[in-house]
Amino acid sequence: MRPLIAGNWKMHGTGAAIGEILAVAKSVGAERVSCDVLVCPPFTLIARAAAAVGGRVAIGGQDCHAQPSGAFTGDVSAEMLADAGATAVIVGHSERRRYHGDTDIDVAMKATAAWRAGLSAIVCIGETEAEHDAGHAVEVVARQLDASLPLGASSAKTAIAYEPVWAIGSGRTPTAEEIAGIHALIRNRLAGRLGDAGSQLRILYGGSVKPANAGSILNLPNVNGALVGGASLKAEEFLAIIRAVPCQV
Ligand code: PEP
Repeated sequence: MRPLIAGNWKMHGTGAAIGEILAVAKSVGAERVSCDVLVCPPFTLIARAAAAVGGRVAIGGQDCHAQPSGAFTGDVSAEMLADAGATAVIVGHSERRRYHGDTDIDVAMKATAAWRAGLSAIVCIGETEAEHDAGHAVEVVARQLDASLPLGASSAKTAIAYEPVWAIGSGRTPTAEEIAGIHALIRNRLAGRLGDAGSQLRILYGGSVKPANAGSILNLPNVNGALVGGASLKAEEFLAIIRAVPCQV
């Protein structure tokens, strides 16, 4: 399975930042990298980014509405993302769950909307610090996975991102054993639910992935890529993570 390195720019970047995406695209186009690469800039940059990269890296959204259109001021539909040149969208990021009240059901509806529009969905799940410290990570992740992933998931149109909320932007990461353990749980649940298709879905790790730790995290079993926030904003840092992906044999 070819890994995926996805960058989540969050609410960072104006037109001046297109140069960073272009620099990533040029290097990815010129080098034989071992992974697919996706950059998810703010909505306002999607069309410009897609035009600039010319298919060398994929461009995605960070969220979408479940409906294709309607009276939803300020929202953007999956169809609009696709029209702007996106091929993927992140759904259920913990910042959408926390600041916008997205529930597991909302996330499942957004993933379904992504598929309807021909986008692949990156479905984010992960426990909070309090849940982690109370020893509830496994049950929280299992519950979120079951409820946030709609029926009909396939590897072509879906990836799961395990992002412990307490690791996002904090510089802290779980131990290798913790990451491998949660990813194994996700893999087993996907296989139980989807059969063979479940063993093909990419499971990304997200939370303070940096050039210094990318190699060891990306080598763990059932880690099929990374969702990268802060370290995706600068081309050189993001490229260092892309280059840390182990060669597939
Ligand atoms: C994220 O926002 O999805 C994320 C993983 O952020 P960071 O890499 O900055 O922790």
